[in-house]
Amino acid sequence: MGFAWVRHGSRGELAFLRPESLGREDACVRAFFTTRWGGVSVPPFASLNLGLHVGDDPRAVRENRRVVGEILAFPPENWAVARQIHGTTVVRVGPEDAGAGALSLSTAVPGVDGLLTTAPDLPLVGFFADCVPLFFWDDAGRMVGLAHAGWRGTAGGIGRRMLQLFREELGVLPERIRVALGPAIGPCCYRVGEEVAALFPREVVTRDAAGVSLNLVRANRLDLEAAGVTEIQVAGICTACRTDLFFSHRGEKGHTGRMAALIAVTPMVKESVERHPQGRGEIPR
Ligand SMILES: [Zn+2]
Repeated sequence: MGFAWVRHGSRGELAFLRPESLGREDACVRAFFTTRWGGVSVPPFASLNLGLHVGDDPRAVRENRRVVGEILAFPPENWAVARQIHGTTVVRVGPEDAGAGALSLSTAVPGVDGLLTTAPDLPLVGFFADCVPLFFWDDAGRMVGLAHAGWRGTAGGIGRRMLQLFREELGVLPERIRVALGPAIGPCCYRVGEEVAALFPREVVTRDAAGVSLNLVRANRLDLEAAGVTEIQVAGICTACRTDLFFSHRGEKGHTGRMAALIAVTPMVKESVERHPQGRGEIPR
């Protein structure tokens, strides 16, 4: 299983991806990954940049966040945003964190690359442009997690750290946790130095005449499978190959925007974009 493609707007101008299977129809987990389509930011942030930390006009970013919140029925005033630092710290958040980082950088949950919660209608939000978005939820739909894994977070085992917290906080074992790995930079575009490659198992490193490549998504997948997760959905799209759809830090030499990953426990089924899409089907090639 992979990710489904959903479009919205009168001309289908907004587009999102979501894990194809979120479990039982009534399991009440909703998760999305945005694309760069349909926002108001200008180049190099065109157009749906959701990151406040990249030098874009904050008014444009807030407008983009408002539009995403409205379409996904995830209003920004409920978001809990991680102020990511490429580490492996994961924290549990609750209703008191609603709105953290939604309108300004300074109020985001500081120094963490992973969030988890059991609080209903509290979307966990992180920002991405090549790093791997990891979505977690338990099969009963009681707890959700979101992690941000670049090479440092992957090498440090942030995915396993999230599994550990699911167990500590709610007694959920890895075999009952579902994971989805969203769009991220692929080995086709991710050259690394030998000092980085040395931190990873051989099966995720490729060497050829042009240098050393790392498969970050596969590294996360292998790590989670080794820890006991049996159901992992993978988007399988390279952000750097597809700068028509995605922002790519590597592909655009650092001058670009960010997509958002959002996941929440929602006790009521929302009449939202996934139930009434204005377009769906295959991701455009
Ligand atoms: Zn690529």
